[in-house]
Amino acid sequence: MTSLTRADWEQRAKTLKIETRAFVHGEYCSAESGETFECLSPVDGRLLGHVASCDLADAERAVRDARATFNSGVWSRMAPAKRKQIMIRFGDLIAEHAEELALLETLDMGKPISDSLNIDMAAAANSIRWNGEAIDKVYDEVAATEHDQLGLVTREPIGVVAAIVPWNFPLLMSCWKLGPALATGNSIILKPSEKSPLTGIRVAQLAIEAGIPAGVFNVLPGFGHTVGKALALHMDVDTLVFTGSTKIAKQLMVYAGESNMKRVWLEAGGKSPNIVFADAPDLQAAAASAAGAIAFNQGEVCTAGSRLLVERSIKDKFVPMVVEAIKGWKAGNPLDPETNVGALVDTQQMNNVLRYIEAGHKDGATLVAGGKRVMEETGGTYVEPTIFDGVNNAMTIAQEEIFGPVLSVIAFDDAEEAIAIANDTIYGLAAAVWTSNLSKAHQTAKALRAGSVWVNQYDGGDMTAPFGGFKQSGNGRDKSLHAFDKYTELKSTWIKL
Ligand code: NAD
Ligand code: MN
Repeated sequence: MTSLTRADWEQRAKTLKIETRAFVHGEYCSAESGETFECLSPVDGRLLGHVASCDLADAERAVRDARATFNSGVWSRMAPAKRKQIMIRFGDLIAEHAEELALLETLDMGKPISDSLNIDMAAAANSIRWNGEAIDKVYDEVAATEHDQLGLVTREPIGVVAAIVPWNFPLLMSCWKLGPALATGNSIILKPSEKSPLTGIRVAQLAIEAGIPAGVFNVLPGFGHTVGKALALHMDVDTLVFTGSTKIAKQLMVYAGESNMKRVWLEAGGKSPNIVFADAPDLQAAAASAAGAIAFNQGEVCTAGSRLLVERSIKDKFVPMVVEAIKGWKAGNPLDPETNVGALVDTQQMNNVLRYIEAGHKDGATLVAGGKRVMEETGGTYVEPTIFDGVNNAMTIAQEEIFGPVLSVIAFDDAEEAIAIANDTIYGLAAAVWTSNLSKAHQTAKALRAGSVWVNQYDGGDMTAPFGGFKQSGNGRDKSLHAFDKYTELKSTWIKL
């Protein structure tokens, strides 16, 4: 929590020192080509800086260095208890710098400063600490084998990890990868989104301050088709971990197949159904939650509750409640601590969202809230939280991930139909169900093809449970001890006694 006002944040924004270079072997450096790209703020269009635009040459150098660091054992063979201490220190440093990092995040990608601070930075620090704390409490196995054999089943760090991340929760998504990758002893190269490179660049220095050896954590800002592709095709990257769109996720699998068969772990898109039955325990709470599920973070959330499935018998009563609730979510200046809907990440994304709103109209859905760009005079990219009623699940706005604050309301008649509609998507990231019938809740939760299911809430979860997708929402899981699977290889060692 903070008592800083909008004026305080604006003052700090004026004097903020913004690091824009890559980070390799413990030092900031320009791209080898000297190229940069412009970093514009979606808050008001201001230029934040010129960021190093890395490419193949930088990837070559960083991978070579990360490999040498890994082989040296300076981190990979450090006692887990010692890695733990350093990672807790790293998490603490993120928390100590939370205001600076939150400001960078908000300026760079437009989310409300209160969310940056109280959600993103708090959870980012927690992810690093949680993984650090866990690593000296996980044990390997001894196989149940013959009397004269000793079968050891051990986990080893996989080596060089490349992490390619998106712009919606830039530092938090990075820390979901960094936490388990570092805890298990790997070297990692982070490729932040070109739309939000600043916090990843900044925390690299904090990692060094915490005591993570140079070369273990490197950051290469730049575009997907340049440095991202170079990392994905690299013959000496062992594992590629990704959060981003399903389209790029598929491309990364191709790159892995074309190169060294590196492991590829993907957290991709979603079109999550939020199912409200007539016997929901509290329709008011369900309505408030449905509004938040699409408006929070401007709808730029992989698990956004973008399809609201409502039982027909309560639809006429329930939809107005959601329309009322969404009035509490209003686009405003992201540096104002009261703002709960900020700017979309950039002009391109705003135009995508506006095109989907047009598609909703064209396909015959009924606009019942929002629908327009707002605050254009600020030079920023703001769109009102928007609700379409009368949506059919076959419509474009019900099938494609919009990644903006646009909600589709779809009616259903019974549980069977709700489940069929809910699962009628290429995605399977998350889903929610509202009912006071225990059996119906469990039966529906079981039938939903999604990696996370929420009952009588939307978006529950913390570090203790895995997060990831079924179907084209991805493979593998972030968070929880299960995430260690992605960053380690299993080894069986047989000793003849
Ligand atoms: P994106 O796929 O366009 O970009 C993600 C990252 O991939 C960026 O760093 C980008 O530079 C890089 N990239 C692009 N082309 C590449 C290429 N050819 N080779 C290598 N790297 C490349 O996604 P985005 O627009 O940044 O983020 C939005 C998407 O992320 C949405 O689909 C959303 O659902 C998804 N997302 C998923 C989760 C999750 O955990 N499942 C979380 C957040 C966001
Ligand atoms: Mn940006």
